[in-house]
Amino acid sequence: MKDAFDKVEDKSKKDLNLIKSIPAMLSFLSDLDDDEVLMWLDQARKIKKRRTPKFPPINGDFYDTREYLNADEKLVLDSVRRFMIEEIEPIATEYWMKGEFPFQIIEKMKRLNIMGLTYNKNLGGQERSNLLEGMVGEEIARIDVSICTFFGVHAGLAMNSVYHCGSPEQIEEFIPPMIAMEKIGAFGLTEPEVGSAASMGLTTTCKREGDTWTINGEKKWIGNATFADIIIIWAKDEDDHQVKGFIVDRNTNGLETEKIEDKMSLRIVQNAIIRMKNVKVSEERRLQRANSFKDTARVLKMTRAGVAWQAVGCARGAYEHTLDYTMKRRQFDRPIAGFQMTQDLLSQMLSQLTAMQCMVARLSSLQDQGSMSDEQASLAKVFCTVGCRTITSMSRELMGANGILISNKVARFLGDAEALYSYEGTKQINSLVVGRAITGLSAFV
Ligand SMILES: Cc1cc2nc3c(=O)[nH]c(=O)nc-3n(C[C@H](O)[C@H](O)[C@H](O)COP(=O)(O)OP(=O)(O)OC[C@H]3O[C@@H](n4cnc5c(N)ncnc54)[C@H](O)[C@@H]3O)c2cc1C
Repeated sequence: MKDAFDKVEDKSKKDLNLIKSIPAMLSFLSDLDDDEVLMWLDQARKIKKRRTPKFPPINGDFYDTREYLNADEKLVLDSVRRFMIEEIEPIATEYWMKGEFPFQIIEKMKRLNIMGLTYNKNLGGQERSNLLEGMVGEEIARIDVSICTFFGVHAGLAMNSVYHCGSPEQIEEFIPPMIAMEKIGAFGLTEPEVGSAASMGLTTTCKREGDTWTINGEKKWIGNATFADIIIIWAKDEDDHQVKGFIVDRNTNGLETEKIEDKMSLRIVQNAIIRMKNVKVSEERRLQRANSFKDTARVLKMTRAGVAWQAVGCARGAYEHTLDYTMKRRQFDRPIAGFQMTQDLLSQMLSQLTAMQCMVARLSSLQDQGSMSDEQASLAKVFCTVGCRTITSMSRELMGANGILISNKVARFLGDAEALYSYEGTKQINSLVVGRAITGLSAFV
């Protein structure tokens, strides 16, 4: 109560001082000629305008790429945006800090119905465009990249492995429950000692005896692996030395997962080490159309395009949040958005982001026409993840010290950009894919 009285008293004192200064102000003004009075009025108006600026709405889709979608597709995108703002944004920081996955969202995500958007309707899919699927990824990553990675691992890596490398019977058995999210998938390719060089030689082995395969080895970094129902395991056949894929139940005897705890990126994603000792899998569960690493690469090509979209979403989330911050944060008695050097950084961020959006939109159109090449997907993955790193670091810079606080979102985007840069083929590996295509010379060692 006393505080309240003190505040009223302070305000009254200020008002009284203002009233007392009026005669002096009037006498000062009466000594001025007309031009001088007009100049003072102009200054006063400028100060008022500076103090109460009207900011335009924030829009990280400057060239309106959303306009490529039809009205029905826009409704899908709107429902994803609503879901992300209402269900994920309020909890993202907390779960990122804890390094836990918010399992309660799975039931809500089921209702969103966004798994297998491009798949055939008879399997529960929607036969929609890759462009829409890409924009859905952008929309998810714009709020949280970990949730987008969960989506990318399940609906991209795992489902695409079955859809593109499985037999019709395997597709019919596994795709509908995966679209309905009754079965969650993971994708196990990388190993503790084999990352970029997965095409050269996996050390996880598989051996067939009769209709049973035995798998031995270790995998590392496998997203969703601690809780997935099925894990696609890629292993080298001891007999023909080709890479084969298997649909393995997580609870199979001999298979153990251990969560990787100390990440500084995508902390919500449950990445794990998988240890397999004499894991038995029936021939029925071997992906029937995966006969060599070339087939694994077919899956990776599609998901690389998806990672490029994730990078766009991550960069967009950082840009939009930073723009908002610069409008609200005041220094030297004005919003920092009004400084020339701030605007230079903001326009650099926007130009990079816009170039990325236009590139992935075209990439998805090529995918929809069925003509997207490996190197086109790789180029977009490189360009967008490099751009995402640049934009998130500029965001951090513009937010000053507050930019290092996880609670201010941008630090989360900054950390998450690092994983995007490295997974599904690092920047260097994807650049080598592009280099090989444009020079005709392979620089892979
Ligand atoms: C958060 C996260 C999630 C992941 N999820 C999955 C998953 O679900 N499933 C899965 O199978 N994997 C997953 N990965 C693994 C990911 O695909 C690998 O990290 C990636 O392929 C790179 O392998 P590496 O980390 O072993 O790096 P390395 O291959 O050891 O590379 C280290 C460095 O050397 C460079 N380098 C390597 N070879 C060359 C070369 N020939 N020329 C020039 N430079 C080279 C690389 O570019 C990199 O800079 C995930 C990784 C992360 C970080």
